[in-house]
Parts: sequence; structure tokens; C-alpha cells
Amino acid sequence: MLSFTHTLISLPFAVYLNNPLIIFVSAFIFHLLADSFLHWNIFPDEHKRFPFHIVAIDITSGLLAAWLLITGQLFTWPFIFAIAGGNAPDVIQTIWIIIKPGKYRKYLAWAAPFFNFHDRLQVETRHPAKGLISQFILILLAIYLIV
Ligand SMILES: [Zn+2]
Repeated sequence: MLSFTHTLISLPFAVYLNNPLIIFVSAFIFHLLADSFLHWNIFPDEHKRFPFHIVAIDITSGLLAAWLLITGQLFTWPFIFAIAGGNAPDVIQTIWIIIKPGKYRKYLAWAAPFFNFHDRLQVETRHPAKGLISQFILILLAIYLIV
């Protein structure tokens, strides 16, 4: 699922919960649940090299949309923890993919079972329109919950 979506759907946790750790963990768990809905994504294997520029646009536009929704609150701890937790599974997994097997991977080897679990949760489609419906609905729900 796009970082744009994960960022926006993590915002309600900062609105409704108080403890930063609980906000982080809740957003993290909800990330995994959201990945189990049929979704379209940026597929690195459709590109010759890892598509850093597209990922950067995805992340930046998510933060910008969050800023438009909650303005001055974006840089407060509850929202920072929510956005961090809501994106953490993909951030660590992307680091894992980028470093490829070799000498640095051993530092993340302890998390390999989690990466397998995260991979198996994915319900993906290569069809953008079909795969954006669930993300659009989740975003609308999140906006409804925070405004
Ligand atoms: Zn994910």
C-alpha cells in the first residue's frame, strides 16, 4: 500500500489515543491490516532500478496531505509517532530490500520472519484503478475521523 495512504490512515490514532507508544503500536498494527486489503502499490520489480524518485514523491505527498489536514499539529509528538508507526513496516522492509544479501543484511536478519509475514499479508493488484479503491475508502474514513 502507498505511503501516502499509510500516512493519512495513521492520523486518527494521534487524535483518539494519548500514549505515544500505544499510538505507534496501533498505527503499526493497522498498517498490517491495511496491507491485507486489495491494493495497488509501487512495484520495484517493474522498474530497472529501485524507483527512489517515485517513492520520494509518494512519501512527500503523503506528508503534505497530512499537513493540509492537520496543519500545525503535524510536528507534534502524537502525529509524529502515528506517522512513524504507520510507515515503519515498509521503511524497515525497504531498507532490507535495498541492502540485498551481503554483509549488512545480517544486522536485520532477526527481523526476517517479520518480513516474510509482512510479504504474505499483501493482497495486491497490478491494476491501479482497482487497487486504489480500498485506499481511497480508507483515506476518506480517516479524514472523517479527524475532522
Ligand atoms: Zn506494508
